[in-house]
Amino acid sequence: MRKIAILGGGAAGLCCACALAQTAGDCTQVTVFEQNDRVGKKLLTTGNGRCNLTNLAAKPDAYPAAVRDFAAPALTRFSPESTIAFFERLSLFTYADDAGRVYPLSNQAAGVLDALRLEAARLGVVFSCESPVTALQPSQNGFVVNDRRFDAVVLAFGGKAAVRDYPGEPLLRQLGLPLTKTAPGLCKLQSADPMLRALKGLRARAALTLLIDGEEAATEQGELQFADGALSGIALMDLSSVYARAAMKKEVQAAVAVDFVPTLPLDALRGVLTDIVRRGQREKCEDLLSGLLVKKLGVALLKRADLRPDAPTKTLTNTQIDALCQVCKNCVFSVTGSGSFRDAQMTVGGLAQQGFDPATLESRQYKNLYAIGELLDVDGPCGGFNLQWAFASARLCAAAIAEKLL
Ligand SMILES: Cc1cc2nc3c(=O)[nH]c(=O)nc-3n(C[C@H](O)[C@H](O)[C@H](O)COP(=O)(O)OP(=O)(O)OC[C@H]3O[C@@H](n4cnc5c(N)ncnc54)[C@H](O)[C@@H]3O)c2cc1C
Repeated sequence: MRKIAILGGGAAGLCCACALAQTAGDCTQVTVFEQNDRVGKKLLTTGNGRCNLTNLAAKPDAYPAAVRDFAAPALTRFSPESTIAFFERLSLFTYADDAGRVYPLSNQAAGVLDALRLEAARLGVVFSCESPVTALQPSQNGFVVNDRRFDAVVLAFGGKAAVRDYPGEPLLRQLGLPLTKTAPGLCKLQSADPMLRALKGLRARAALTLLIDGEEAATEQGELQFADGALSGIALMDLSSVYARAAMKKEVQAAVAVDFVPTLPLDALRGVLTDIVRRGQREKCEDLLSGLLVKKLGVALLKRADLRPDAPTKTLTNTQIDALCQVCKNCVFSVTGSGSFRDAQMTVGGLAQQGFDPATLESRQYKNLYAIGELLDVDGPCGGFNLQWAFASARLCAAAIAEKLL
């Protein structure tokens, strides 16, 4: 009887258990070690409880350059369509929204967890819950996990995002596995800009450019949200991971440049505002932008351009209109740091890519030791890309173990 241990009963660990048990048959026992009293707790919180389980665009090119080559074998072999088909075989049916984000038809993350959990149980996977892995030692072509021997071990501890502590890290260090620095990804970005307090709670659709040391590092278009002392929202969160990777390497000067009117080029915006002023359509400056932006945001931008909201529009000079247009199209917020791991959806960094073979996800240091999911130094954008990596890496690893050991 072959014995395989999966350390961590999250999205990746459960998917790997199902895939392994499907191919393994009776001569293999798959055991999932989970520190919590139940498996898959984080999965229940994904996608605001709806679980955005993949994205139709989750191909290697959609992932950051720093992780693309390493993740490509898993993401190519197990595409989003393959993830959807995998779940259909587990009788979990899905739909995709306009942005390619795939959700369960029930719109409930619990349905995704049930599909994995029930399939694993049906196939005879043993769940060892409330069993934190505290010891992991290599032993005779296998490993001893706590006090039990296994022929192969899959590390699926997940990352640091949204967890209280990170119990796997000492074990990984003891084994001498290479770890990169880590930072919160898909999170807020902190800024001391006073405009944030005035706009707290407000959301705007905008085009965002992340500037690192004055150079354009990434762009995103979508929702920006203002919080006290921080910028947030889906588009901003994608930029936060790019910032984290840069700031992990060295100290950087970062800023986010916001175009609040992305649908109008600068000249067109100037023409629109000049025309409103010329025709006397808006008497006071505070109403000048009200046909383009939420009024509170328009007033904040006026102040940023050194214009008085209660001033009559007929007194505006061309230079003042120009200054207002510049602020609307290129409002720069300096960034002082990332949000915390507690608020993050992803870990940037983790087990170093060079320690694992991307074709099998087996350790280059230890035979029969594998790693999958968020624990590895792979992160993707918001919108189903990280669960796609969790599922694709899990299935690649299961296929590699099946080929080698079963
Ligand atoms: C709020 C939130 C929303 C998200 N929404 C989405 C989304 O909609 N779509 C998307 O693609 N991604 C989303 N993500 C990211 C996604 O949840 C992760 O990428 C994914 O869960 C990673 O899967 P994993 O199995 O590698 O890790 P996890 O799901 O974190 O699982 C790791 C498991 O290992 C267990 N464990 C850790 N250490 C030990 C130990 N020593 N012994 C035993 N067990 C241990 C943990 O308890 C946990 O159950 C979201 C993340 C958060 C925080």
